[in-house]
Amino acid sequence: MKTIGIIGGMSYESTVEYYKIINSEINKALGGLHSAKMLIESYDFALIEEKQSEEDWETLTQILIESAKKLEKAGADYIAIATNTMHLMADEVQANISVPVIHIAEAAANYINEKNYNTVALLGTKYTMTKPFYKDKLKNDFGINVIIPDFEGQETINNIIYNELCCGIIKKESQNKILNIIDNLKENGAQAVILGCTELPLIIKNASIEPIDTTKVHCIEIVKKLLN
Ligand code: GLU
Repeated sequence: MKTIGIIGGMSYESTVEYYKIINSEINKALGGLHSAKMLIESYDFALIEEKQSEEDWETLTQILIESAKKLEKAGADYIAIATNTMHLMADEVQANISVPVIHIAEAAANYINEKNYNTVALLGTKYTMTKPFYKDKLKNDFGINVIIPDFEGQETINNIIYNELCCGIIKKESQNKILNIIDNLKENGAQAVILGCTELPLIIKNASIEPIDTTKVHCIEIVKKLLN
């Protein structure tokens, strides 16, 4: 079995899910007492969020590259960045290490194409929804059309992610707000919705269109590589 190096703690609420899903999928495949070979570099998310809100992507890129190098040196055969947002610097990370980065948007895109969806909605942090790094990859590399909520919807989801989900708070009221936003995106033509934030699957399990759990599809892709 190969070893995965996870860059996590963004937030720890979802890194816990990575740990659980990867281990349980490995155990499902190999049985007995088998579990995954995993290294985790876990950040203090407060420091990361501070740099994000300052839009200091340069510093964040250097931080991620350093971690990826550290994990590679420690024996990781693959690297996974356990957050959608921080894939903003996935290309720079990949350019600075010699083991592959398993990309979360590629894992989501493969799933979407298997299901033959042409148009999907994307929910995530304001950075993931509005910056081109995620939407353009889906469109240009995989031919998938992406629609996002209006400004008010973006703000609502971004606030729920940082003020509630990343702090382990799950509120029924917030769940209903997100479900209403998904209903509107369905009316605008979305056939499925990408839960493009690794904490969103903690609050959205079902919706009026299929919710695509990026934490799960990322973990499944990671396990495939580890067992290959
Ligand atoms: N985990 C979230 C994501 O998948 C948000 C936290 C972050 O900004 O990294 O985008």
